Amino acid sequence: MSKVIDILKNSTSPFASFELVPPLKGSDSSKLFASIEPLLQFCPPFINVTCHRDEVEYCANEDGTYTRMVLSKRPSTIAIIASAMIKYNVEMVPHVICGGASRSKVESEIIDLNFLGIENVMALRGDAATGQRFFQPEPDGFAHASEMVEMIQNLNHGKYLDPTVRNGVATNICVGVAGYPEKHYEATNMESDIQNLRRKVDAGADYIITQMFFDNQCFYNFVAQCREAGITVPIIPGLKPISTIKQLELLPRSFHIDIPQPLVNELQKAKTKEAVYQVGIEWCEAQSRDLLAHGVPAIHYYTMAKTDNICKIVNSVF
Ligand code: FAD
Repeated sequence: MSKVIDILKNSTSPFASFELVPPLKGSDSSKLFASIEPLLQFCPPFINVTCHRDEVEYCANEDGTYTRMVLSKRPSTIAIIASAMIKYNVEMVPHVICGGASRSKVESEIIDLNFLGIENVMALRGDAATGQRFFQPEPDGFAHASEMVEMIQNLNHGKYLDPTVRNGVATNICVGVAGYPEKHYEATNMESDIQNLRRKVDAGADYIITQMFFDNQCFYNFVAQCREAGITVPIIPGLKPISTIKQLELLPRSFHIDIPQPLVNELQKAKTKEAVYQVGIEWCEAQSRDLLAHGVPAIHYYTMAKTDNICKIVNSVF
């Protein structure tokens, strides 16, 4: 299998990569495979699979009281990528998060991945748990993604967290991290966010994939600021086509991003669901073409398990 950084170094032309969300618990692998199969026509060099922390829900009892339940809503990312790799022989990149886990548990996850022969990981902190306003690490957990990157690099040198492991086998894992063209919502300002991004790169991150954005100028400014701050690793832009009018509210709220007014105007002019969907496709196509003209190495498409629009875009742009 191949490391993402080697794919980036060796590719002679820009390519499309994709990101999937695992299906909800209660479905089987057929739903997962149905979201992967349409993407295979593009021979994606890699496909990412997101990772989700447990959620807290209050379930109503017959007597009117509620029971607090901690629920894993989706099958594990490791199970998803293992099943997809066996079936399709495509490079899968699992996301691993710090949230809700001790350092030792995160390390074990990386070791499991190494046993599966997986050479790529996207190292993320994750968001606050349901009901919490701010992210809080577990008592023995990582507070920032940079700490996870450092742990993985230690493993790559045979250095395990468990001090009783002697002459540990060195893993061989390529690490991607997240970047935010419109700033991470907790960061005081863009400069400090980019300094924190630099910590991840200094800790050993091989490349960056960005949060979605709808105004390419934000991405170009971000890349320029990263380069000025001494970040030299490849930066892959992340794009998502808007597909419903509701996303005008949902995306800024969930991802702390802006939707430019000309796009809002176009979406509001659209009279039907189909017309909204088409506006989303055309905006994303225009963004993709412009990014390619500016020499990006790849474009990472957030599919959110819906692939029709993404396939149209990749077919027309690449
Ligand atoms: P960090 O790099 O730790 O940064 C978080 C905040 O802390 C930033 O404001 C940063 O400026 C600040 N910071 C970082 N280091 C320090 C430091 N040493 N001192 C002080 N401040 C610091 N979430 C999921 O739950 N599952 C996923 O699969 C997932 N996939 C994603 C994929 C991509 C490409 C992106 C862009 C995001 C993804 N997310 C995912 C969301 C991500 O987990 C959240 O945005 C989270 O809030 C921050 O994660 P991070 O890895 O960027 O954190």
